Amino acid sequence: MPKIIIDRDKCKGCLLCVSFCPKKLISKDRGLNKKGLNPVKFSDKSGCLGCALCAIICPDCCIEVYK
Ligand code: SF4
Ligand code: SF4
Repeated sequence: MPKIIIDRDKCKGCLLCVSFCPKKLISKDRGLNKKGLNPVKFSDKSGCLGCALCAIICPDCCIEVYK
């Protein structure tokens, strides 16, 4: 099962990864990070394809995908 790690304190909440995930597994986190922004969170580990589109599209390299 693929493993996704999101660096929530590095995330600026641009939501690009949310729109690019084909399975819609990433969503906005209501909590704030150290920057005072709403980061994103990974919701459903079982549905992840491990395609790494989220990691590739992130402009700030906040996401790591391990297969
Ligand atoms: S690896 Fe692919 S399926 Fe998994 S969260 Fe990222 S974009 Fe979505
Ligand atoms: S693309 Fe990167 S910076 Fe933008 S919301 Fe996703 S993880 Fe955060």
